[in-house]
Amino acid sequence: MDTLFTAPANRIRPERVLEAELQGRAILPGDVDYDAARAAWNLTVDQYPALIVVAESADDIAAAVRYANEYDLSIAVQATGHGVARNADGSLLIITERLNEVSVDATTQTAWVEAGVKWGAVLEAAQAVGLAPLLGSSPGVGAVGYTLGGGMGWLARKYGLSIDSVLRFEVVTADGDRLNLSADQNPDLFWAMRGGTGAFALVTGMEIKLYPVTNVYGGTLIYPAAVAREALQFFREWSSYLPDEWTVSIALMNLPPLPELPPFLSGQSVVMVHGCYTGNPTIGMMMAQAWSEWKAPIANTFNVMPFTQVGSISNDPQQPVPGLSSGAWLDSLSDELIDTVVQFALPNGGPPALVKTEIRLAGGAMARVPAETNAYSHRQERFILQTVGITPSPEAQQQVKSHTVAFKSALTAHITGVYPNFLEGQEKYEAARQAFDAAKFNRLRAIKAIYDPENRFSHAFDLTPKA
Ligand SMILES: Cc1cc2nc3c(=O)[nH]c(=O)nc-3n(C[C@H](O)[C@H](O)[C@H](O)COP(=O)(O)OP(=O)(O)OC[C@H]3O[C@@H](n4cnc5c(N)ncnc54)[C@H](O)[C@@H]3O)c2cc1C
Repeated sequence: MDTLFTAPANRIRPERVLEAELQGRAILPGDVDYDAARAAWNLTVDQYPALIVVAESADDIAAAVRYANEYDLSIAVQATGHGVARNADGSLLIITERLNEVSVDATTQTAWVEAGVKWGAVLEAAQAVGLAPLLGSSPGVGAVGYTLGGGMGWLARKYGLSIDSVLRFEVVTADGDRLNLSADQNPDLFWAMRGGTGAFALVTGMEIKLYPVTNVYGGTLIYPAAVAREALQFFREWSSYLPDEWTVSIALMNLPPLPELPPFLSGQSVVMVHGCYTGNPTIGMMMAQAWSEWKAPIANTFNVMPFTQVGSISNDPQQPVPGLSSGAWLDSLSDELIDTVVQFALPNGGPPALVKTEIRLAGGAMARVPAETNAYSHRQERFILQTVGITPSPEAQQQVKSHTVAFKSALTAHITGVYPNFLEGQEKYEAARQAFDAAKFNRLRAIKAIYDPENRFSHAFDLTPKA
């Protein structure tokens, strides 16, 4: 309550006191750059934080977290906005994009990666010395956010998940302390954060392993949608004998009409077989040849490519788009399941609801890491489904949502769990029970109760502490 002695005009807002402590900025509703700061890469996200801190350093993050404690705000964190679970409405949103240091040590084959770094920057720095990070299909995705959910990219079957290559995290805990996490330091929190998403602490940087990959044999084969069923069956057979050097996927695509696409793709439905082979390219070429012997593709981009161009395999959009992603682990690629996938992925007497339905082959090095190593679960499954719909309007959002729900309920008998990184929005927030086995889920909640009893980090998986 204002009194005669503290007239509103003379009172300094606490956010401005915080800003004076920061190297970075504090942005409030009404500030000119509020709208730009609250935006996410996924244009569907429309969030109204009570306060946004654009951090310049780990100290800024610690100060912001202490502020959130003092004023009882929940904390959301964003590097790029590719994987928002729960909007930052009424919260403190910490933007990490300016923590963008990457340093590579060629001798130890490791990299130090700050919280705001996108994979493309790590790729560039590592490739300059003949090394590769375990990035995913898009270099525009944030390295830390991707890693906290697991991180399954084009080297995953050869070198494993990104989470299995983290040597150390530096974090700010829910009470604003800075901690080092590794196998020797705070091992319980280190265990939880490798696969448990951002529900436990805020990562300011991570040390990761790199691998000696310079060239790969990779690309995409394109077939008409008319052969989708047979292509999925052939993918099942072909993928059953692939060595770990191959990481592969098959996608049923409904491409929008776009002037930048060639006519055979613009507005068309097609099957795309993506792959990346890290062994001898001649052998990779011989193994990919099986597809051309099965049926001649409409297009074939497979080639020996510098690993710097790995993003061209999936060719994900780089610019922000409005979209909704979902997915699940599948128990098999049975004929019955394939029929359901084709039915929901391709247009069925009307415009298609989804732009992409992809099945990736898992296993390989991902499956060889002992289950107890970290929180990540579902290592033994072989096939992971991801669906993506474009949602430029609330109606489109609703349509994609209900189509995805119907798709997943038709697959219920074959779904064995979910992979955090392929979920978004409310589904992601609520999915913790399906992402982990029961023992890991309980252990995660117990660790959450120790490190974040007030549930300050409540914008990732919902792991509300045990009462
Ligand atoms: C085009 C595209 C391609 C993709 N390809 C792949 C792929 O090949 N393989 C794969 O596994 N995933 C893939 N993903 C999923 C992606 O890994 C997740 O969406 C991931 O969460 C994105 O992280 P971000 O930091 O870019 O996004 P943000 O939206 O900025 O962050 C997502 C979440 O990560 C957490 N987080 C981020 N930074 C921190 C931090 N410093 N401390 C604590 N928590 C933090 C927060 O919970 C945050 O809500 C893809 C997504 C898109 C849109």
